[in-house]
Amino acid sequence: MNVDKIRADFPILQRKVKGKPLVYFDNAATSQKPKQVIDAMHDYYLNYNANVHRGVHQLSEEASQAYEQAHEKVGKLINAELEETVFTRGTTDSINMVAAGLANTVEAGDEIVVTGMEHHSNLVPWQQVAKMKNAVLKVIPLTDDGRIEERAIADTVTGKTKIVAATHMSNSLGTINNVQLMSKIAHENDALTVIDGAQSVPHFPVDVKKLDVDFLAFSAHKMLGPTGIGGLYGKKKLLEELHPASFGGGMIREVTEQDASWADLPWKFEAGTPPIAAGIGFGAAADYLLNIGMQHIHDHERKLTIKALDVLNKDTIDVYGPAADHRGGVVTFNVKGVHAHDVSSLLDDEGIAVRGGHHCNMPLMKKLGIQGSVRASFYLYNTEEELDVLNNALGKVAKVFS
Ligand SMILES: *Cc1c(COP(=O)(O)O)cnc(C)c1O
Repeated sequence: MNVDKIRADFPILQRKVKGKPLVYFDNAATSQKPKQVIDAMHDYYLNYNANVHRGVHQLSEEASQAYEQAHEKVGKLINAELEETVFTRGTTDSINMVAAGLANTVEAGDEIVVTGMEHHSNLVPWQQVAKMKNAVLKVIPLTDDGRIEERAIADTVTGKTKIVAATHMSNSLGTINNVQLMSKIAHENDALTVIDGAQSVPHFPVDVKKLDVDFLAFSAHKMLGPTGIGGLYGKKKLLEELHPASFGGGMIREVTEQDASWADLPWKFEAGTPPIAAGIGFGAAADYLLNIGMQHIHDHERKLTIKALDVLNKDTIDVYGPAADHRGGVVTFNVKGVHAHDVSSLLDDEGIAVRGGHHCNMPLMKKLGIQGSVRASFYLYNTEEELDVLNNALGKVAKVFS
């Protein structure tokens, strides 16, 4: 993987912040976009802007074809068919769509299982379903270093469990969960898995068939694509049974005065005019990632993560989460005795973009006994030199506050 060549595709990486070269380590919040994605969206608006699935005129044909091909490209990235690849507004929207659809299958006394490291987007929708249906929300506990052991899954999931909602990779700790095992245990108990792939699909190979997950949610903007669009994978049979949560044009087959039937998958879940340009950009992002190869991206981020965990000075810095073997490209830490927001703001003075706060993960922060933390998260365009810049800047921060 040629990182210099990749960086040349991302014009924003050339800019300066506070007079310093930008070091962008906030990829878990959103990624930067390569020219190829921006150009694909431009091209649509400049040359074939039209609504999809409606007109028979040339522009509409071209737009429809590009929009459909975008679904195929995104599906290819996770080894899903076109029928199984629904475009949504993003991870949050995808999970809400599944939660609304599956709520019908939950009865009083049933269990919904989540893990102790869920993003609010994969926790709050299930809290709401549990409240509405008088179901029990159970939480798979974490080890002290922020992992989930097989035993903890097996002990939490029971014959009463209907849904296991779990993140593939934690946005706070970087922990990569064994969702294949979770699905196996869930299926042994006749439960379905809803996997939050917001941090996995962008960063390493995800094969929905091999993992045997039932639903997978992800966001385009964290994988080089635009905001406002994301993906929902579902097994074909389950999507056929799932009730749509949004109704109107585009998602129907036939409408009478009193009733309606639904369009084929995946369109059944895409009511109204979709964000067409964003969808086309999403497809271009999937193409870009496929061209580079997800395993190469993972290997690169792993190298950066191992180095980061190695060089951060443990005398002045507390690092959270598991060893490199169990995590992706996220390193969360605090400089001892310094508020996470102060650290983030001092790093910003050095041109380094990180996230400081609770990372949409308040229950986890509480468990760690902290109010917040600083998160550096990596992607394919980051370099070891940038880690040195971060490390030097953190040395300065520790000195200022000592
Ligand atoms: C970012 C993120 C989400 C939410 O994604 P949106 O694009 O804001 O909908 C959910 N889960 C995880 C793990 C995330 O990192």
